[in-house]
Amino acid sequence: MKQPRFPRSRRHPQQALRSGKSTTIPAPYPWAPTRRAAVHSLHHLLSNGMHKISGRVECKRCEKEYEIEYDLQEKFLEIASFISENKDAMHDRAPASWMNPIVPNCKFCDRGSFVRPVIMKKKRSINWLFLLLGQMLGCCRISQLKYFCKHTGNHRTGAKDRVLYLTYLGLRKQLDPEGPFDL
Ligand SMILES: [Zn+2]
Repeated sequence: MKQPRFPRSRRHPQQALRSGKSTTIPAPYPWAPTRRAAVHSLHHLLSNGMHKISGRVECKRCEKEYEIEYDLQEKFLEIASFISENKDAMHDRAPASWMNPIVPNCKFCDRGSFVRPVIMKKKRSINWLFLLLGQMLGCCRISQLKYFCKHTGNHRTGAKDRVLYLTYLGLRKQLDPEGPFDL
């Protein structure tokens, strides 16, 4: 006698796909590992010859999109020393300079306040290291910053200046895990 088969609907193949996202993702950038909201350490990057970090920006005025790059070590030191000097005065909130990023002038129309980083709609593909080095994380929406915090163990709610602060310090910590600041 034949064994009765489970009806197809019992298997819920789609539900299995939907419940719980995979823990590993394809590395979205050469400077990012296969984890969400993550970057490689400074040591790893520099010892692999990665000195420049690039990303795309767009001009809201002339609508041109182009790539810019930052020197990893130089920008990291700038941000790390800014944090060291100002952390006590921040009271766990992003200062105005992080909330309202100073964006570079457009290389085509030479206007300053119209350039914005291109931020990928798919949150796993956001170029976190580029946004950090350009100090343009403040251009992210709060939902994008909360995604970063969630995937780095900071299940925080709160105003944008709070999650932006956590994102800056979280990235700083990933780049320099032996560094002075714990979250
Ligand atoms: Zn322009």
